[in-house]
Amino acid sequence: MTRKEFIRVCSLFGIGVPLISSCGFTHSLYEDFEVNFSGKVIVVGAGAAGLAAGYMLARHNIDFEILEAASVYGGRIKAKTDFADFPIDLGAEWIHDDPSILARLISDESVQANIEIIKYSPESLYFWKNDKLVKRNFFVRFYGEHKFKNTTWYDFFDTYIVPPIKDKIRLNSPINEINYSGGKVSMKTLEGQVYEADRVIITVPLTILQNEYINFIPSLPSEKMDAINEVPMPDGIKVFIEFSEKFYPDILGFDGVLDFLSAADGDRLYYDAAFRKDTDKNILALFSVGDIASTYTDIETEEALIEYILNELDEIFDGQASQFYVQHAIQNWSKEPFIGGSYSHFDDYSIQETLGAPVENKLYFAGEAYHPENSSTVHGAAESAYTVVEEILKG
Ligand SMILES: Cc1cc2nc3c(=O)[nH]c(=O)nc-3n(C[C@H](O)[C@H](O)[C@H](O)COP(=O)(O)OP(=O)(O)OC[C@H]3O[C@@H](n4cnc5c(N)ncnc54)[C@H](O)[C@@H]3O)c2cc1C
Repeated sequence: MTRKEFIRVCSLFGIGVPLISSCGFTHSLYEDFEVNFSGKVIVVGAGAAGLAAGYMLARHNIDFEILEAASVYGGRIKAKTDFADFPIDLGAEWIHDDPSILARLISDESVQANIEIIKYSPESLYFWKNDKLVKRNFFVRFYGEHKFKNTTWYDFFDTYIVPPIKDKIRLNSPINEINYSGGKVSMKTLEGQVYEADRVIITVPLTILQNEYINFIPSLPSEKMDAINEVPMPDGIKVFIEFSEKFYPDILGFDGVLDFLSAADGDRLYYDAAFRKDTDKNILALFSVGDIASTYTDIETEEALIEYILNELDEIFDGQASQFYVQHAIQNWSKEPFIGGSYSHFDDYSIQETLGAPVENKLYFAGEAYHPENSSTVHGAAESAYTVVEEILKG
């Protein structure tokens, strides 16, 4: 079992995750350090990593701007507020760590954060195996994760990280050229606007680098490009469906417990998205990432996709899905133009050093793929940005 798999299993079994209901401030993530840098920094991408980078740069009074391709910030953290009577996370939803990580991400003792957290400890877990629904409720006794109660990962960033940096975020600014051949780095947006900086923190998803959307001048070193191309970022999707009756368990997995844990061809589960939320609504969600997710992400139209999902659920629950269907919301991450998939899936973590290495002390890389222990998470993305900012500022 690799270290990463071990961490995943520990988190599924709730090891080391204490029950707390709210998150008061505890301690800072990083100690103060001596700043030996006074130039300008550009951050490319305003997801968790880009926003966290800006937050740390602002903390140290560094001149910076954040260039974001999309018309909104957040990247793979995204909330939908008009679907139910509680906000839903269209991307990241679980806090895959001790919830005190939130306070450590804020890293500011003057901030009184009071964030209500729920322990995500489902009571009913069924599996659809060999055309039969089997109950494995005993297993949920070991399952422990956390979620936001009435808010979302997006709200967390919007409330605590974004306010001091909002005026530095330039939306609708897709960067398609980064020229680091001179003393300064110059960047061009799709529309030809030019920005210049001494250091650049690149936080775009791996897919954007793999597709060579950004033209680097000169090209990135070949060993770096090889590392980028070696890490898959497969498909990912979430679908939320409201039903007028609750006919499903807290979690529905496929095949057996061991398949669920090993996630050999990716993850696929339906879960009660209203679990312990303040609501009477019945909201079931599909979460799927990895190769198995392509079954859903490849379906061309929204109508065909929801029909496929309702048929899948009807087969398992004797037609009740179609009978009680009210409405749905789909977030196909594979089709998001500046995301293009789920998150990094590593076969070999030893590659991460080459993947994350800065280039000529001008280009730095941060984001979920670059955290040595917490890749594919929100907090891992933010922490990787804090590490890179510290590296730049220490000089
Ligand atoms: C379906 C799904 C479920 C998940 N569930 C969880 C969960 O429960 N818990 C958890 O911790 N994590 C979860 N994750 C993972 C988590 O969402 C990510 O690890 C994290 O949000 C990634 O942050 P990031 O800053 O590295 O990248 P992103 O959020 O992708 O940010 C990158 C930004 O760069 C922008 N960009 C791209 N190209 C350009 C360009 N050329 N110029 C300028 N900007 C550009 C993008 O628009 C984007 O805003 C989930 C992810 C998915 C897809």
